[in-house]
Order: sequence, then structure tokens, then C-alpha cells
Amino acid sequence: VDERELLSAGDVARTIARMAHQVIEKTALGSPGAPAIVLLGIPRRGAPLARRLAARIAEFSGHRVPVGVLDITLYRDDLRRRPTRPLESTRLPDGGIDEALVVLVDDVLFSGRTVRAALDALRDHGRPRAIQLAVLVDRGHRELPIRADYVGKNVPTARSEQIAVLLDEVDGRDGVLLRRR
Ligand code: 5GP
Ligand code: MG
Repeated sequence: VDERELLSAGDVARTIARMAHQVIEKTALGSPGAPAIVLLGIPRRGAPLARRLAARIAEFSGHRVPVGVLDITLYRDDLRRRPTRPLESTRLPDGGIDEALVVLVDDVLFSGRTVRAALDALRDHGRPRAIQLAVLVDRGHRELPIRADYVGKNVPTARSEQIAVLLDEVDGRDGVLLRRR
């Protein structure tokens, strides 16, 4: 396997910090009239990413942002072809998501089908004021009219390539690699 480092551990930390600043700015966090924000990570690696983003947002803005996990397994449009079990089940913050600005967080955006499934899943849990999307890597190849509001790194890829996102909580170290087969 041919492997190239796209982001070092330090780059991952800086990228998440930059995304935190962008969330604070774009959502006007803490300003009068600004909606409450809820971060929802999509398992598996979206969950630790959402927790890290919330930690940086709190550090930079002084505002604590609730974090949850949104399981989308049952909402996948390929469920009949590939039955799967959830990696982690849905956990919403105590305040729920009604009238909140929900920021979905995932590691990689590809076809957009996972995000479409997340939007369906959210509909069963409440009615947010708005929904945004944050991804560490956008690798292109969208099959649906979906885009991210916050992108850590845009990586043009071939379909045959794979992005490896390594996070300390899951993989024991941080980094992003491009793998060619
Ligand atoms: P999509 O549903 O947009 O096609 O793919 C996005 C989902 O599949 C994300 O949850 C992401 O974790 C996973 N995914 C798709 N492509 C890649 C990839 O190249 N690398 C990694 N690590 N995950 C991917
Ligand atoms: Mg995933």
C-alpha cells in the first residue's frame, strides 16, 4: 500500500482549532439572539471529533457547547444490502435539539449519503432551528446536493483512494493519511 501523510498530529490539532474559531464566528456564539448550539458526532470518529471541537470552542469563546452522538445505522439507504449494527447509539444532550443550531460532525465527507441519513435520523429526534455540517476531510465525489459548512481539509481523491483518519481516542495517535491501493 502506498501511503502519504496529509496531516500530522500537530496539523490535526491546528485544523480542529481553526474549525472551532470558524464555528464561533459563523454561529455568532454568545451574541444576543444567537441560537443555542449542539454538536452531534457521527460514529465512529465523528464522536471524538465533536468532543474535541467543543473543548476548543469552550476554550476560545468561554461558552460550553453540549455534545451528543447521532447513530445513523438504521437510516442508511444501503441497509438492505449491507445490514450493520450501530457502533455507538444515539445520545442527545439533556436539553435536546429543538430550536438549537445543530452542527453535525464527521471525519470524512464522500458521497454525502451518511449526512443524508443523519438528516433523516435528526427528524425523529426533534426540530432544530438549523443544521450545519463540519468535516475534518472533504474528499469529493458527492452523489447528493450536500456540502459542509466547515471543512478541515479539502482533499481531491480518486475513488480508488482511501483517507485514513487516525484519532488518539480510537487509534492511539492523530494523523490523516492518503492510501492508494
Ligand atoms: P459518504 O456517506 O459521504 O459516502 O461517506 C462518508 C462516511 O463514510 C463517513 O462517515 C466516513 O467516516 C466514511 N468514509 C467515506 N470515505 C472515507 C474515507 O476515504 N476514509 C474514511 N476514514 N472514512 C470514509
Ligand atoms: Mg464514518
